[in-house]
Amino acid sequence: MSGQGIPDARSQSLSGLPELGSPAVLRHVVDVHCHPTDSEISQLSMDRLPITICAMATRQADQGLVRDLAAAHPDKVIPCFGYHPWFTHWISLAYVSSKRQHYEELFPNWRENVDAFERLLPLLPSPIPLEDIILDLRQNLEAFPKAMLGEVGLDRVSRVPFDYFSSPRELTPFYVPFEHQLAVLEAQIELAIELGRNISVHSVKAQKATVDLLGRLHLKHGDRWRRLSLDLHSCAFSPQMWMDVERRHPNAFLSLSTAINSRSENHRALIAACSPHRILIESDFHCVDECTERTWAMLLTVAEIKGWEVETTWRDDLEEHQWGAVRRLEHNWRVFEKGNHIIPGTQKKGRRRAQQTEMSVNPLVK
Ligand SMILES: [Zn+2]
Repeated sequence: MSGQGIPDARSQSLSGLPELGSPAVLRHVVDVHCHPTDSEISQLSMDRLPITICAMATRQADQGLVRDLAAAHPDKVIPCFGYHPWFTHWISLAYVSSKRQHYEELFPNWRENVDAFERLLPLLPSPIPLEDIILDLRQNLEAFPKAMLGEVGLDRVSRVPFDYFSSPRELTPFYVPFEHQLAVLEAQIELAIELGRNISVHSVKAQKATVDLLGRLHLKHGDRWRRLSLDLHSCAFSPQMWMDVERRHPNAFLSLSTAINSRSENHRALIAACSPHRILIESDFHCVDECTERTWAMLLTVAEIKGWEVETTWRDDLEEHQWGAVRRLEHNWRVFEKGNHIIPGTQKKGRRRAQQTEMSVNPLVK
């Protein structure tokens, strides 16, 4: 894609958001996590989009939308297929005889909240067996060799709403049990490992469970685990917790968004603590017309904290020490995309060494 024909992105800047780079610079920017299919997408919006986006799927209804978007715009869209923890109650771990049985078993407090349960039940879909979900995911991932698994994850905060699509969203007293979320997540990650696909992970108030899961995956899969890259999206880990992940998992990256991370000051400390080679940027936004501005805003924050200059023009012939923020973040993305984070000399003993590392960190791991 050349700069010609792309409208000057600077003139599209939304008020309050920083001025954008030139199209020649923006074409090297990757928004590693967004939800464009949650809004209407016009052809004009896609024609104008000056960056690459990783479009996440979250539930059954949007897997096909992401597929169609990526098929129509293969040069700008990296499709990501997966089931978000907010929608995992729509999935049954086994085949169930009735919808009612599934939701009664899933929400153990339904008896104390019969009125809310009876109001919710007709609004819920019949559950889809996990086996079918995995089959569908496999087909989508195999159809797009560059596709990632996402958005998947763990969330200890979110409550099930009566109607996800109503605004404002009215919440029920029900949560998706953590063990259920974990089972759905692990099944999806097993598939990603089998296919060698990168993963975009949501982790909210589940730091320890996420860290434990990464440790288990490394133990179980050794180098096969390190063959893929994992992005902790809108990462809200404490700097200390992140540095521990970074040290133990060479395949782990973090990405930050203004939508989520700017709500807390923690993100600045996190950027400061994170290796310059493991940071990515994202919008986590639902409207493709704003993905560029929002990703760019996070790029400027990262650049400021890391002391990186921001490119105003593009040059391919620079030495690494001369790189600006866009070039550095683009390079991080390429390393993420490529995967294969196997430490030289450990290939054969990967699993054994992994076990030893885990043992020393956590003596309870068997
Ligand atoms: Zn997201």
